[in-house]
Amino acid sequence: MNLFTYERASDASGAIDLARGNAAARYLGGGTNLVDLMRETVERPDMLVDVTGLPGGIEPRADGGLLIGAAATNTALAADPHVRTHYPLLARSILAGASAQIRNMATVGGNILQRTRCRYFYDTAAACNKRQPGSGCDARDGFNRYHAILGASPSCVATHPSDMCVALAALDAMVQLDGPGGARRLPLLDLHRLPGDRPDVETELKPGELITAVEIPPLPIARRSTYRKVRDRASYAFALVSVAAALDVDDGGMVREVRLALGGVAHKPWRASAAEAALKGRPATAESFRAAAEAELAAAAGLRDNAFKIELAKRTIVAVLTDLKGEDA
Ligand code: SF4
Repeated sequence: MNLFTYERASDASGAIDLARGNAAARYLGGGTNLVDLMRETVERPDMLVDVTGLPGGIEPRADGGLLIGAAATNTALAADPHVRTHYPLLARSILAGASAQIRNMATVGGNILQRTRCRYFYDTAAACNKRQPGSGCDARDGFNRYHAILGASPSCVATHPSDMCVALAALDAMVQLDGPGGARRLPLLDLHRLPGDRPDVETELKPGELITAVEIPPLPIARRSTYRKVRDRASYAFALVSVAAALDVDDGGMVREVRLALGGVAHKPWRASAAEAALKGRPATAESFRAAAEAELAAAAGLRDNAFKIELAKRTIVAVLTDLKGEDA
């Protein structure tokens, strides 16, 4: 681990001032990913700016939505009564992630900005375009069971590891940012990038920008929603495939509204827009659910170890929607 200085900020402007003009500074939340990256010398900051003292409240908004301070812990968010009642898919996604000890430390802002768990990214002896642009990608012909089946590129087939972000993608969450150029808001779906030929550039954050809060809009459909994570073991494992979903079926058995997002399949949380479009106004039947899943996965491509995830994703979508329809009956 390299030498670094440690500073603690009590508000966003103080944090931004501390990091201003220093490309080697990093904002520190719970440290549950960044410290690991520093131990492996994948990240080599010369300054850590601790932002856990920034606002971390979880406040219902007047419009029925929710405002979550970026320093809120994952544990606090999953346990929040408003979240559990109005956005159960969000609470379930967080509880599906990591261990209780890590959730106690991890912050919402840090969860969003955690980096891939591709083993070659952490192995500084391996070729990895994300860690060292132009060096290659050892995952393509290596162990790629956890890698992407949608939106990947010849440069990188990594997946985004967050469960929480999959639920936020389904909910149309907005991210509040602050930085040297001022404050702004960005849809969560536009924050993370697909790898293209620059997998080292993972987000649309500008230099020195910081996530300060997450907004969730009011969404009545989300009261009946869920998150299912398919993984190799029951706890402390990343998703092979996950599905965040909400479903509203009218009295005639037709899909009035649906929200679907996938995790474990792409370089970013994957909103299943093709499946949603295929389902709206259609009968809420197993045949429609399967057709929607086929539409979403039509462009999927597998590698040596992960091609099974294409069918797994389809079946998980159908299973989750079938369960939600059952709740609606
Ligand atoms: Fe690196 Fe991406 Fe290839 Fe993994 S998949 S080795 S993160 S370039």
